[in-house]
Amino acid sequence: MLRNDQLDQWDRENFFHPSTHLAEFARGVTPQRIITGGQGCHIEDRDGNRLLDAFAGLYCVNVGYGRTDIADAIAAQAKELAYYHAYVGHGTEASITLAKMVLDRAPDHMSKVYFGLSGSDANETNVKLIWYYNNILGRPEKKKIISRWRGYHGSGLMTGSLTGLELFHKKFDLPLAQVVHTEAPYYFRRPDLDMTEAGFVAHCVSELEALIDREGADTIAAFIGEPVLGTGGIVPPPAGYWAAIQEVLNKHDILLVADEVVTGFGRLGTMFGSEHYGMKPDLITIAKGLTSAYAPLSGSIVSDKMWKVLERGTDENGPIGHGWTYSAHPIGAAAGVANLKLIDELNLVHKAGETGRYLNAAMRDAVGGHAHVGEVRGEGMLCAVEFVKTREGRGFFDASEKVGPRIAGALLSRGVIARAMPQGDILGFAPPFCLTREEADEIVGKTAQAVAEVLG
Ligand code: PMP
Repeated sequence: MLRNDQLDQWDRENFFHPSTHLAEFARGVTPQRIITGGQGCHIEDRDGNRLLDAFAGLYCVNVGYGRTDIADAIAAQAKELAYYHAYVGHGTEASITLAKMVLDRAPDHMSKVYFGLSGSDANETNVKLIWYYNNILGRPEKKKIISRWRGYHGSGLMTGSLTGLELFHKKFDLPLAQVVHTEAPYYFRRPDLDMTEAGFVAHCVSELEALIDREGADTIAAFIGEPVLGTGGIVPPPAGYWAAIQEVLNKHDILLVADEVVTGFGRLGTMFGSEHYGMKPDLITIAKGLTSAYAPLSGSIVSDKMWKVLERGTDENGPIGHGWTYSAHPIGAAAGVANLKLIDELNLVHKAGETGRYLNAAMRDAVGGHAHVGEVRGEGMLCAVEFVKTREGRGFFDASEKVGPRIAGALLSRGVIARAMPQGDILGFAPPFCLTREEADEIVGKTAQAVAEVLG
């Protein structure tokens, strides 16, 4: 075991932390947080603090920490066969079984699953498949992808472009030219439009129509969206949004990618968010909940309609020129199989819906009436509290006041981890599905205290 001071020094000197203020970290302003263990909904740090993780890591440890069934499956796979590739028809029992389990759970019209490692690479795969698809169909101009402002789809070159958050573009020369953004279905943030919610859905649709008109439908290949906006603010769409958007996409022969990295495998209380909102995607992105983050694994689930064209493409052009060394890594696949079994055995999809409703209702009761709480919103085991300077007219705080991060800090000092979402003063909650009502009460009670501490 390393001494604490040694670990601290090595950390500051060597470790390039993602999504971190690099200069402040190096200067010692950003605290080091060294996590040593986890059990159920709690993690432990090296100083012995036990924290209630109301964000399940990065909304990924859906079955909770310390699941020995999954750890044992990983160990057994590593001992038997740590690695073999999946190129040219190779597979393992774990990867084949997991593909079957994913398709059994996916909407009926889905056909195959390609495995990657992260949500970002799965969305890169999706874009390549979309381009390939349109090339095989003889439509080389139909290539642009529409994404929403505030959508989150990864932080690669293409996926960082799809992501509609300023921080992920600024100084990276993104977005790339093939990506165009449209209005986010974020009613609360558009008081300026002075519309009813139904009117706002019509506005989102007409914005999309106008964009398609401007660019030309024959240049637009696909539309990507999370069933519920995640990192952009945890925002369930207004009623009727997805049906209305899909109608436009169908009219213009534009594919739909449902990015279910957060919503896949139960977070909304249904197996997929597509099911929850009646979406009929051509591709579904999965990651986080596929293994509950016990090992890195992601996937692109491909519809029958696209699959037929991909097959034809290989008849005409030879094997598909797309693959990662670690596609369908056996250890990740073994983790996925054990994770999905556990979700079934413990009825966790149903539980996520039930406890999620309880958490959302309790949160609304506890802080919804506060003078600086503009909205409490959520769906399933996703919940967000958005803060406003003035409720009247929805005036927002200046970002420099760091209201969201300060409230998250006050909550952390009480032993609960929530996430200050990156754009706006929004406190996000996405606990593991095994959350108990007592734990939900603790999250809510301490949130109310943290809000009172920072905003009175
Ligand atoms: N899509 C969505 C909806 C996500 O929330 C995320 C990650 N938060 C990603 C894609 C990217 O996944 P990863 O970080 O595993 O690359």
